[in-house]
Amino acid sequence: MSWFSKDTEQVLNELQVKQKQGLTNAEVQSRLEKYGENKLKGKPKKSLAALFFSQLRDMLIYVLLGAAVITLLIGEYTDSIIILLVVILNAIIGVFQEFKAEKAIEALQKMTTPRALVRRNGDVIEIDSKEIVPGDIVVLDAGRYIPADLRLIESVNLQIEESALTGESVPSEKNAALVFEDPKTPLGDLANMAFMSTLVTYGRAEGVVVGTGMSTEIGKIAKGLDETQTDMTPLQKRLAELGKTLGYIAIGICILIFVIALIQRRDLFEMFLTAISLAVAAIPEGLPAIVAIVLALGVTRMSRINAIVKRLPAVETLGSVNIICSDKTGTLTQNKMTVLHLYTYRKFLDVPSEGTATAEEGAEKKLIQTMVLCTDATLINGEGTGDPTEIALLELGEKYHLPKRELESGFERVAEKPFDSDRKLMSTLNKEGSHYRVHTKGAFDNIFNVSSHALVDGKKVPLTDELKANFLRAAEEMSDQALRVLGAAYKDTDEIINPEEMEKDLTMLGLVGMIDPPRLEVKDAIHQAKQAGITPIMITGDHQHTAAAIAMQLGMATSLAQTVSGSELDAMADEELNEKIGNYRVFSRVSPEHKVKIVKAFQSHGNIVSMTGDGVNDAPSLKNADIGVAMGITGTDVSKGASDMILTDDNFTTIVSAIREGRNIYNNIKKSVVFLLSCNLGEIVAILASVLFFWPMPLLPTQILWINLITDTFPAIALGVDPGDKDVMSKKPRDPKESFFAGGAAMRAVIGGSLIGILTLVAFYFGLNEHGYQLWSGSIPEDVLTYAETMAFVVLAVSQLFYSLSMRSAFHTIFQVGLFSNKYLIGAILLGIILQFAVISIPFLAAAFHVQMLSLQDWIIVILFALIPLAVNELIKLGMRMKNK
Ligand code: ATP
Repeated sequence: MSWFSKDTEQVLNELQVKQKQGLTNAEVQSRLEKYGENKLKGKPKKSLAALFFSQLRDMLIYVLLGAAVITLLIGEYTDSIIILLVVILNAIIGVFQEFKAEKAIEALQKMTTPRALVRRNGDVIEIDSKEIVPGDIVVLDAGRYIPADLRLIESVNLQIEESALTGESVPSEKNAALVFEDPKTPLGDLANMAFMSTLVTYGRAEGVVVGTGMSTEIGKIAKGLDETQTDMTPLQKRLAELGKTLGYIAIGICILIFVIALIQRRDLFEMFLTAISLAVAAIPEGLPAIVAIVLALGVTRMSRINAIVKRLPAVETLGSVNIICSDKTGTLTQNKMTVLHLYTYRKFLDVPSEGTATAEEGAEKKLIQTMVLCTDATLINGEGTGDPTEIALLELGEKYHLPKRELESGFERVAEKPFDSDRKLMSTLNKEGSHYRVHTKGAFDNIFNVSSHALVDGKKVPLTDELKANFLRAAEEMSDQALRVLGAAYKDTDEIINPEEMEKDLTMLGLVGMIDPPRLEVKDAIHQAKQAGITPIMITGDHQHTAAAIAMQLGMATSLAQTVSGSELDAMADEELNEKIGNYRVFSRVSPEHKVKIVKAFQSHGNIVSMTGDGVNDAPSLKNADIGVAMGITGTDVSKGASDMILTDDNFTTIVSAIREGRNIYNNIKKSVVFLLSCNLGEIVAILASVLFFWPMPLLPTQILWINLITDTFPAIALGVDPGDKDVMSKKPRDPKESFFAGGAAMRAVIGGSLIGILTLVAFYFGLNEHGYQLWSGSIPEDVLTYAETMAFVVLAVSQLFYSLSMRSAFHTIFQVGLFSNKYLIGAILLGIILQFAVISIPFLAAAFHVQMLSLQDWIIVILFALIPLAVNELIKLGMRMKNK
């Protein structure tokens, strides 16, 4: 018989578990061994060999393999061996980088896997979903993913959205008490079951796990989910395009050279190799791998500052964000609430900060009782769990000798209507002797709307406009001091009523005012954001005055005129809102659906908007925003699922830090790419010029390969992890439409590349000239040529290495940036020079690459030559800075 056909007692018996106790650790252990981890099998990982061969599927590699075959055919064995070695080495580096990047992304994904609440050994604890076993008692509340297949054993107004399983996006109502006799009842109708990967949208419940991992319903259909989608960032896409274009240009030039060589009647084989050299020089082969690794390292670094990036493209978008929309509670404030004042009709009362007090009989005591009974949070030995607003109320109760446990044992809860951020109210129905009492608490304006009476001097009187005005004044007085104000009301009934009937005709009891201090560090972060051309915006469910007071304390707003409320937004047409949106800094009393409207209005002006969210209903606004930011601690699984980035500390400051990192990462990628392109251009210039002017070839293909794939790679990666400009946050956000080569980057690549190319030729000429030959001399002896080629080869490699130093900043000198502030780059340059030294000094390598050892004097000359592109670039920067002044 299926689980849904049995009653709850039977199910619990069969699974050998008690609802109030849960499983013990020993039972969990043995069941874990028996049933395995609760996870769906992913796609099998690519093997190392598969990864290796996937590196070889590349245009450049085909060109090289072709070259290897031809060199082999004509007996140039060393050349073919070198080419093959380079291909293999390049593939190994590629595998390593891909592996590292994948590991980094995987580690991030692990941090974001949903967790679940289970009862074990009598306590409710939060665990990783994969540790769940059959028989576990799972506690569900709104916003959580169902971690396994459950037979519900208790449910209150539970609604579950099951589209992951049934495709039906309207949430289904669930009821633990039902039993379905018909074994063929369709999945969608099983109201006493909850299935893995579906989502609680409303209410709360408890269920017992009846299926885990691949034996769940979703496991049966999914048979292995493919969760890792490879998301290319816009920049990666553009660079891939650029790579392709350069590849085609390279092939075009190769054909051209071949034709010229035919006309010039040069040695065909040599020209074939030259054409290949040029192709190698022109195609930026290391580029995609380097960008991928820089992104992966970047997001790993961001996770260390509490920002988990879920989608790689978000890294780039972060750099362009110019509006940060942030929740107030918990993000800008500490979310540690304390009730400071109570208000009953015409009576303000300060709550003592230490010690206890006694509540007066009548409205005062009733107010506290209602506030305490109408909560889901718990407070045990001063340790609170649940909503901080409610914990503050429980603490209030304890101060007044009205602890929740005692109250609840006298007034048992029989029904409830949970809080949601649209109604901004919560109600419970509690037994009160022979009758029942509704206790309602919530945003004070909403309490007014559902109250018809008020308790005044112990008597229930109609809530007149005058009375309302009185309460309102008290509420605003507290709001203006940045306090969150909650109202409470009640009514008595003879019988148990429907939740729909609860919030009507209530009797207003009074108000409480609670403080939630701003986070200390937020003020600085807001200042920093403004300096960086970013406007911080507060979006809150709280009252206008409370919101405005905090916004002004934090420097987000200057006056009440910059605030607007949810109901005012409702009254505005989209066009009107679009027009006025720039004036607002604070949105108060908003519901989740307003957030979408706000995002769209900001975007209508071309702004790049980030939006925070934590609730079940925040998913649409998170998806609509350019960067959806979910809260790691208080956020629901839904909001996390819909977000681009998760803050593990729920802190506004982290958003600003993430933007700084996002800007740095983009700038660093730009440095790497411009550097690599300058190098490639240098090689093209040197070779093309030689072909056009009938000069001997200054560089052999194997030499170019060596430089491109070995010596260049290290500084390029080191530039990618550059510590970044100190003043990134004093610049305006980057326009997302801005070209990658904006701001003179293309110019710098052209100048740097041409210089490197020209110097390579000069070094070549210098080498020939030392032995009394010219570029245009007819026949040059082999050893002179080798000497000159060595000079060119070393100058090309070393000038690129030095030039990388200059790429760290487009404006500041290498000394202003700090010559040694990027240790990796210094390491990469030293390593490059050592490798270069090795390749010309170790005899068998030197022979293979057709180079020879250089004397100390030659090295000095070479180093001087190699410093020139760096020096010229520094002079250009100097000129630019003088012009800017
Ligand atoms: P923010 O949007 O800045 O994070 P918030 O999360 O507190 O603020 P909501 O949770 O939507 O916003 O709360 C909106 C209002 O509802 C609060 O100002 C308060 O008056 C009321 N409220 C909050 N929590 C509860 C609760 N547990 N029960 C009853 N009313 C509540």
